[in-house]
Amino acid sequence: MAVQTTIYHDLLKELENTAVTLVAVTKTKPIEDIQELYALGHRDFGENYVQEIQEKYPVLPNDIRWHFIGHVQSNKVKYIAPYVFMIHGVDSFKLLQEINKQAVRNNRVIHCLLQIHIAEEETKFGLNEEELFELLYNFNNGDLKNVMICGLMAMASFTDDFSIVRREFKSVKVMFDKAKEMYFKRIDDFSSISMGMSNDYKIAIEEGSTIIRIGSKLFGSRN
Ligand SMILES: *Cc1c(COP(=O)(O)O)cnc(C)c1O
Repeated sequence: MAVQTTIYHDLLKELENTAVTLVAVTKTKPIEDIQELYALGHRDFGENYVQEIQEKYPVLPNDIRWHFIGHVQSNKVKYIAPYVFMIHGVDSFKLLQEINKQAVRNNRVIHCLLQIHIAEEETKFGLNEEELFELLYNFNNGDLKNVMICGLMAMASFTDDFSIVRREFKSVKVMFDKAKEMYFKRIDDFSSISMGMSNDYKIAIEEGSTIIRIGSKLFGSRN
């Protein structure tokens, strides 16, 4: 299935007077889909498998901002560190240290979001509130100059009950505000909340999201 350009333009209209960034999630989708959206002016693309982003990155324009939205294993950070714009799924201090190390090697700063576990499913990665503040404490007392913590990321439960989804998103905003107050009060870069996918992005925006990650709505369902 081709890119849903009408839906894309409708989405842009919806976001027009907001500060919300649309990340187009292209996992499992062909290069041509990315090129098509790129030709329309889109620059923020999201992938969540290292092997796949490694194959796509070299053959696409280098002004694309690549968002790594999945869980990245420490030993794979080195592959994406030369070019990744933002890593959304950081959920341990150890991983943050590794990202910093690889960022230093590449003489660049990598934007990171800390992933919060809010969903009911146990399989999803992420920090609980206590772990989040422990990580922030360690970061604050450390010396990781080549990572920039820009905010939080979360995935809601896979459910039709949108009251649960809304409650989960609300809890992320509460944690974000608390983290901002405690550690990033005067740091403008701590300003992002990445939450909301094809089925729940409207709720996410209502609850304070600044980055939505949309895949199937733009590119059709994945196999
Ligand atoms: C696949 C994926 C998305 C996009 O999901 P859609 O429901 O297709 O919009 C967003 N975020 C993450 C982390 C994903 O893995």
